Amino acid sequence: MLHATDRIRPLANTSATEGRIRWDAAKSLWLFSMCFGGIAAIALTPSWDGLGIFVALTVATICAGHSVGMHRLLIHRSFQTPKWIEYILVWLGTLVGMAGPFGMISAHDMRDWHQRQSECPPHPSHGAGFWRDAWWQMHCRFDLDHPPQFKIEADVKNDPVYRWIERYWMAQQLILAVPLFVFGGIAWVLWGICLRVSVSVIGHWLVGHFAHKTGHQGWRVDGLPVQGYNLPGLGLVTFGENWHGNHHAFPHSAKLGVEAGQLDPGYWFIQALATLGLAHDIVQPKDRPARTGLVRNEPLTPGAGMVVLTSK
Ligand SMILES: [Zn+2]
Ligand SMILES: [Zn+2]
Repeated sequence: MLHATDRIRPLANTSATEGRIRWDAAKSLWLFSMCFGGIAAIALTPSWDGLGIFVALTVATICAGHSVGMHRLLIHRSFQTPKWIEYILVWLGTLVGMAGPFGMISAHDMRDWHQRQSECPPHPSHGAGFWRDAWWQMHCRFDLDHPPQFKIEADVKNDPVYRWIERYWMAQQLILAVPLFVFGGIAWVLWGICLRVSVSVIGHWLVGHFAHKTGHQGWRVDGLPVQGYNLPGLGLVTFGENWHGNHHAFPHSAKLGVEAGQLDPGYWFIQALATLGLAHDIVQPKDRPARTGLVRNEPLTPGAGMVVLTSK
């Protein structure tokens, strides 16, 4: 019996395991060309101002864009914000260079749907080893022979702004490339776009890969073959997305670093929006019924906030 999620309904003939991993030409060539430009940035145009542009744009697009706009807001609806803020955040998330809004919802939700079944194939579970998983996740796609029905909510699917961003998601970089070129020449374009996109895409895959292998786990979801793990120490560079074990436990929560001492800059950003009156109805772990099979891992030391578990 296959599980359903908010956006995914299995059909009578749906199989979650039968399918093929295929090379995704557009995705692969896109990443190769960004990496080529990124290497050129470092090798041919090394500069402190280029590095500054890279860091500033990476923080803005990954934190406000990917983690808050795409993941916590558009995909999980874990807080409410005015539409114009939502558009800016999702647009920044598109600049990360992985997909447009619909592509991101679909990639996230299909992986999540697979990971909720009693049997999960190696592609959506990050089951392969390091190099093979890198190739599969960043250059290929997993096509099911008989996929489930996938429906994005109508107000998002029919939104003209999202349709436009989705249709031209790669070309959105041009909106950034023009001012970068005008003020910093080709060097700023290589640092601010090519290097940033390659580091972001590879970094996103690295977190996904290791966060499904082993790590800290405050809660586990019994009965599922795939578990999420926390990757302590990476809060500041992943903007809170490293608390992936918590995210498996409480997927609806705006706060990912839910235990004491777990740094979560994405959540700080949402709190800053709330202080400005621009975010409300921020969902916490306790605000929704617990997932089936959710179990607290007992602290190893009495009173300790966090637990270390080895992989099963
Ligand atoms: Zn996961
Ligand atoms: Zn998620």
